[in-house]
Amino acid sequence: MRTFILLGAPGSGKGTQSDHLVKAFGFTHISTGDIIRDNIAQKNPPGILCQQYLEQGKLVPDDIIIKMVENHLQKVTGDLIWDGFPRTIAQAEKLDQLLHNLNSKVDHTLYFKIDETKLVARIMGRLTCSTCGRTYHKTAVPPKVAGVCDDDKTPLVQRKDDNKEKIKIRLAGYHTDTVPLIEYYLHQQVLTIIDADMEGSAVWDQIMAVLK
Ligand code: AMP
Repeated sequence: MRTFILLGAPGSGKGTQSDHLVKAFGFTHISTGDIIRDNIAQKNPPGILCQQYLEQGKLVPDDIIIKMVENHLQKVTGDLIWDGFPRTIAQAEKLDQLLHNLNSKVDHTLYFKIDETKLVARIMGRLTCSTCGRTYHKTAVPPKVAGVCDDDKTPLVQRKDDNKEKIKIRLAGYHTDTVPLIEYYLHQQVLTIIDADMEGSAVWDQIMAVLK
């Protein structure tokens, strides 16, 4: 089991590149945002606990998200791409411990570095498939047929937390809680900076150079 983490601000392209990695290499994609949204849709106890945080644009407390990740990890196999986890130092330490118990480790962290002044526009154009979680962008990554997912033809929706007010809160949280992870993985010597301001195909080329 190899483990790759995609680290970066909301809207930096982690979801899109994860989709490509799954298609090209069969990676197992673990998006904690998707896991939370699934639980909310099922209206189960973890979902009910998480809903208020998600709607406010705040991070779900570490103990809740770690429990969800621990459960999820028991169900998956293969090489993993983590998208949206870890988001705090406590989560990163826990992930190291969980992987250690599986005789594994973080193989690489790809830090999607982006000009944050462009993020609001990027996120506001984002469309998501509520069935498979695939993400599109109205202009940058449009679906083949407007408004429906290429893969399963589900109508695409805009996420409730993809609005200006919530994006500001999410970005502030990103700076306080998640940016320290750059130093954490630099220290472990497993971090590569990806220039995520480039076109999608150029971002992909940079990722391929790391994975080779
Ligand atoms: P995302 O789809 O990655 O943008 O995540 C959507 C929302 O889910 C975030 O704004 C948080 O409320 C919550 N969330 C996702 N991943 C985490 C995490 N690792 N830790 C805490 N909250 C999370």
